[in-house]
Amino acid sequence: MIKRRETRQVQVGGVRVGGKALISVQSMLTTDTRNVEASLSEIIRLADAGCDIIRLAVPDAEAAAALKEICLHSPIPVVADIHYDYRLALASIRAGANAIRINPGNMREEEGIREIAGLARKRSVPIRVGVNSGSISKEIRDLYDGVNSKSLAYSALKACEALEKYGFEDICVSAKASSPLMMIETYRILSDHFDYPLHLGVTEAGTEREGTIRSAIGIGSLLLEGIGDTIRVSLTADPIQEIKVGISILKSLELREEGVRLISCPTCGRTEVDLMNMAGELEDKLAHIKTPLTVALMGCSVNGPGEAREADVGLAGGRGFFLLFKKGDIIAKVSQKDAIPALMSEIDNLLEESEQSDGI
Ligand code: SF4
Repeated sequence: MIKRRETRQVQVGGVRVGGKALISVQSMLTTDTRNVEASLSEIIRLADAGCDIIRLAVPDAEAAAALKEICLHSPIPVVADIHYDYRLALASIRAGANAIRINPGNMREEEGIREIAGLARKRSVPIRVGVNSGSISKEIRDLYDGVNSKSLAYSALKACEALEKYGFEDICVSAKASSPLMMIETYRILSDHFDYPLHLGVTEAGTEREGTIRSAIGIGSLLLEGIGDTIRVSLTADPIQEIKVGISILKSLELREEGVRLISCPTCGRTEVDLMNMAGELEDKLAHIKTPLTVALMGCSVNGPGEAREADVGLAGGRGFFLLFKKGDIIAKVSQKDAIPALMSEIDNLLEESEQSDGI
């Protein structure tokens, strides 16, 4: 069981971040914010996939104006992402953003930071201070010998100070790097320095395969140390994948229990059933289930019965047939063709029983 470091809590719309709140999963819209219909449709897709908080870019006044309609209809809290122009941050708060993300370091006007802090406090809107390894100022790079965990952590601390100066402390912090090692070290430094909630992410992590691995290592290592209150997996892919990977990271560390944990073996020379195709089909069929459930799909009698017996329901392969297990008992012997329908029918029964008894 992971012991989480205690942080203070901020409230992003209906989602609490920090303290003892569940670790939330975030993503960022790929749509043009000015296109309200497309943006809302992507938000709904992401929310259905399990996204807790959505961020969107606000690059100009037109996007800030569109934000009002988006916030009004979004089923999950909306974070407005603003760079350079403090007026867009003010407009986003007025439009109903549940939080804003800024990097005070790239906002030139001091007066602007003061106004943002004042309005955010008045409207109880938290601010995510977000710094990246790619945008550390020259002054800080010179001070710490380039781009490294110390200069990145210092950038984040300076950015927090810019708001603290105006009495604003309703802050969540991110300090992302594309290198998992640099990102891990940076968050460790920050976690030792303050108790603001931390938003974890490996920035520009890459394509689906590479980005998933880097994010799992970067985010997963920190979560294992008890560091992190909300996460975003950045992938050059459909944002739905970001949510799936984020949830899988949390489930792997037993920080989230929602949904099915599918145990499937890699197959080998002993396999005498068609497991490869079944695993993908089963994963798709189980994707919508929110109830915590363990399902095993195993190729043969070496480890199959053991894993299937331990799962809520499971299939263990034999010579062209499967043994179907439920809660530790063999309940049927089924053919290859009937295996998935039989398994799904038992899962449906379990879900029904769980609804009646309130838990599996
Ligand atoms: S469970 Fe059986 S088929 Fe699957 S990898 Fe292990 S030995 Fe091979």
